[in-house]
Amino acid sequence: MRGLMQDVPLTVDTIFRHVEQHHGDVPIVTNNPGGKVRTTYAEWAQRTRRLGGVLDTLGISADGRVATFAWNSARHLELYFAAPCTGRVLHTLNVRLFPEQLTYIANHAEDEVVFVDRTVLPLLWPLIDTMTTVRHVVVMDDGGDAEIPDDPRVLDYETLLAAAEPVEFSVPDENSAASMCYTSGTTGNPKGVVYSHRSTFLHTLGVIAPNAFGLSVRDVAMPVVPMFHANAWGIAQAAPAAGSALVFPGAMMQPQAIADLIVDEKVTFTAGVPTIWQGVLPHLAGREHSLREIGCGGSAVPKALSEAYREQVGLPILHAWGMTETHPVASSGVLSRAFDDADEDTRATQRARQGIPFIGVEARIVEAGTIDELPWDDVATGELQVRGPWCAQEYYNPDAGAELSTSDGWMKTGDVAALDPFGNIRIADRTKDLIKSGGEWISSVDLENAIMSHPAVAEAAVVGVPHPKWDERPLACVVLKSGETAGEQEILDHIAPLVAKWWLPDAVEFIDEVPKTSVGKFSKKDLRTRFADYEL
Ligand code: AMP
Repeated sequence: MRGLMQDVPLTVDTIFRHVEQHHGDVPIVTNNPGGKVRTTYAEWAQRTRRLGGVLDTLGISADGRVATFAWNSARHLELYFAAPCTGRVLHTLNVRLFPEQLTYIANHAEDEVVFVDRTVLPLLWPLIDTMTTVRHVVVMDDGGDAEIPDDPRVLDYETLLAAAEPVEFSVPDENSAASMCYTSGTTGNPKGVVYSHRSTFLHTLGVIAPNAFGLSVRDVAMPVVPMFHANAWGIAQAAPAAGSALVFPGAMMQPQAIADLIVDEKVTFTAGVPTIWQGVLPHLAGREHSLREIGCGGSAVPKALSEAYREQVGLPILHAWGMTETHPVASSGVLSRAFDDADEDTRATQRARQGIPFIGVEARIVEAGTIDELPWDDVATGELQVRGPWCAQEYYNPDAGAELSTSDGWMKTGDVAALDPFGNIRIADRTKDLIKSGGEWISSVDLENAIMSHPAVAEAAVVGVPHPKWDERPLACVVLKSGETAGEQEILDHIAPLVAKWWLPDAVEFIDEVPKTSVGKFSKKDLRTRFADYEL
């Protein structure tokens, strides 16, 4: 017997119409260099329909790639909807990528137009002749003072919008592409992930849900995680869909500016990577605010950071896990009722886990290179694999060797994890960051967490360095907080009770800064290169 319900396509224009019809009075704020710009979803919706008209005027093909090179802003939100709602494919370019990678990505995706914030125009313009399919560069004046080139390809966003007619939105096929995003590519060429309308719709519902970010009309949401990295974790769709007000940091990404925005705009929900919250903490500590949740992921949230927020800001951090290939959010670490009566330290340890998968996403761990499942005993570690309607099946025109799926249809994450009996994920490492000592694996993430719980430590990254007897041994690279002191022995004494004896790093190097990737994660590749000849 078949179900007898309507088969309505799950598309981004359905989200758009819901926001337009029901949440028009809700405000959107963007913090630009020249001052805050305020609008509403009603105005945004009108402008988004006209932007659809602009894409027609520019002659962007039916499923043409519409690239953005921009900070989080209301204009960027117009593009987030106008491109997919007219059947085009939004392609967010990461403003922090290296020039060669940007060229590669724009050409690989065959971008036809790039919408660029004036503040970052100087990063894009020198590359424009290398982007062979780009025909137009549309400048969004966000208060930057970069000179605008006198070139026929360069157009002004507001001028185009003022002259355009609004269009109707209707996307018939929920499996058509809505947007794409390239992974930061720590190895090989960046790889393109293509999101469908259906996956976007379902991910949006997943992110709104109470066990996830729990967004509603009562919220003021501020995505600090960039809209140019992994869809701002879906908040750019989820907040409008839930009728939450939106606050965008624009180009004003300095920790002080972010803390002030949280306080002044009465932000209730925000999200960003651990390095952001590390920087914001001293500017937010002790101030009155309206926050009910701080989402954090992209790399492991140190227990010490979450606890520092609990103590100094009044709420711990909500841990989430995911990757570009999972839209990106796939699990979150809300505490179940089993922890209601637990002591604070147990609760904090639990919060440092990556949590349980969202409804719709399933997880398993397998023996490396096989599809043999490992037990959920929180001891066995293996490759984490996931499946669900917002997990990617394959990359866009991948290079050889970049297969994503297993023979039985699960997505390989490249993360090494343990699962507890309730399937709560504990990421031990990236496969390539594990340290192999005497044939046994050491988790660099666990060591980093232990080191970062030392009060004088600002950041710590642990990498494997070659060792004549053990193959590899851990080297701890430590950044001290300004004005603090601590020696190698003090660090090692601090972590000795926290980790297995044979895990203790063989040496501690004090460095000025942990190198970061374009999306703010520790770049262990750079550290491994720097310390490749390290003598233990
Ligand atoms: P990206 O595609 O740039 O978002 O990177 C995804 C990768 O970031 C994952 O495969 C993990 O290795 C890492 N990651 C994301 N969230 C977490 C987390 N909460 N804890 C540990 N690693 C994480």
